[in-house]
Amino acid sequence: MTGPLAASHTDGGAPAAFVEKRPLQHFVAPEKPSLVGLTRAALAAALGAVGVPERQRRMRVQQIWHWLYVRGARDFEAMTTLSKELRTVLAQQYTLARPEIAAEQISVDGTRKWLLRLPGEIDGRPHEVECVYIPETDRGTLCISSQVGCTLNCTFCHTGTQRLVRNLTPGEIVGQVVLARDRLNDWERAAAPTGQDEKRLVSNVVMMGMGEPLYNFEAVRDGLSVVADGDGLSLSKRRITLSTSGVVPNIARAGAEIGSMLAISLHAVTDELRDQLVPLNRKYPLRELLDACRHYPGASNARRITFEYVMLKGINDSLADARALVRLIKGIPAKINLIPFNPWPGTRYECSEWEQIERFSEVVFDAGYASPVRTPRGRDILAACGQLKSATEKLSASERLALRAMAMTD
Ligand code: SAH
Ligand code: SF4
Repeated sequence: MTGPLAASHTDGGAPAAFVEKRPLQHFVAPEKPSLVGLTRAALAAALGAVGVPERQRRMRVQQIWHWLYVRGARDFEAMTTLSKELRTVLAQQYTLARPEIAAEQISVDGTRKWLLRLPGEIDGRPHEVECVYIPETDRGTLCISSQVGCTLNCTFCHTGTQRLVRNLTPGEIVGQVVLARDRLNDWERAAAPTGQDEKRLVSNVVMMGMGEPLYNFEAVRDGLSVVADGDGLSLSKRRITLSTSGVVPNIARAGAEIGSMLAISLHAVTDELRDQLVPLNRKYPLRELLDACRHYPGASNARRITFEYVMLKGINDSLADARALVRLIKGIPAKINLIPFNPWPGTRYECSEWEQIERFSEVVFDAGYASPVRTPRGRDILAACGQLKSATEKLSASERLALRAMAMTD
């Protein structure tokens, strides 16, 4: 969700809401591993490692699963269906830790953004990723990250200017969902009987934060399998969307092994332009990408593929581009998501004029495609993935203090 969440402040200038920000400190790796986010098989192995006999493991996994992902337990003592001995042994060896929150911001429109600090350090700075929650009337979407940084260098994307630091683990991927449920007090609502998914605050997950999920395939697959598990967090695969810049060989694999909804960062209708905007296009050009979409399992009118299209002024926003776009995706059950470009310091691009976005959207709509333009959300908290992190990095210590003081008075 880098796109919708514009970087500029609202008209008044000052951040409207600010809850918590802790000063940077060097990250100390946890002594004990967390059980949050392990697959059932990995959890069974963790139980085996502390002496739980093989024949009991399945049942214990099921019990712990329920405490972790239905009840939101944060310590082993709460797990009253386990014996006292087992709880003690588990607490000696493991934790139920979620990713550490380095900063939390809440926008006047309810958008929340967390800067998360993960184990590891580069150039004296901790590994950090972002996670954004966007409430809407009929759903609440959590945008999560898959990597610290990115290997790809899409020229309009701020994450693309950062080098890849590392892949997230399945635990860190699931941890973002668990943490959002914690912070939003969503556990009770989320445990409501099936069919009432819309009552949950976190009802949808999009993998549109930092990183290219299909270059961290196994961890993303395993993490999303935990998120989708019907005895746990229970987010249906139709409510999980994975966005890719076009790692063609892994698209079919994602269809077979993950089965979520698919979003493609298209952004251009010719190879010539897409080669510049999304350099991965040189490896996997448009024809191959669209072929992979045509064969994506389960794509149907009820399960459309989303094509993301960032609106860049004078680059890809002409009406001829709009017409070429609908020709290009002909025959694919699709939605087109027009994303106003979200500028960042040093970028060479500008966002298209609003009128041009509307005209572009009309062409797409007239061709029979839903073409929602993502409304910018969380403007007052710089709620764009890749932007809270950069904003905190850019600020000097005294500026950070000033920002904090200003925010505290709101
Ligand atoms: N790496 C994946 C997912 C993360 S990016 C991908 O590229 O699809 C999520 C979406 O935000 C992508 O469509 C991406 O192209 C878009 N995006 C990145 N930077 C942006 C910016 N500055 N403004 C608008 N959208 C942006
Ligand atoms: Fe940014 Fe996605 Fe491109 Fe990586 S692949 S640089 S996250 S748009």
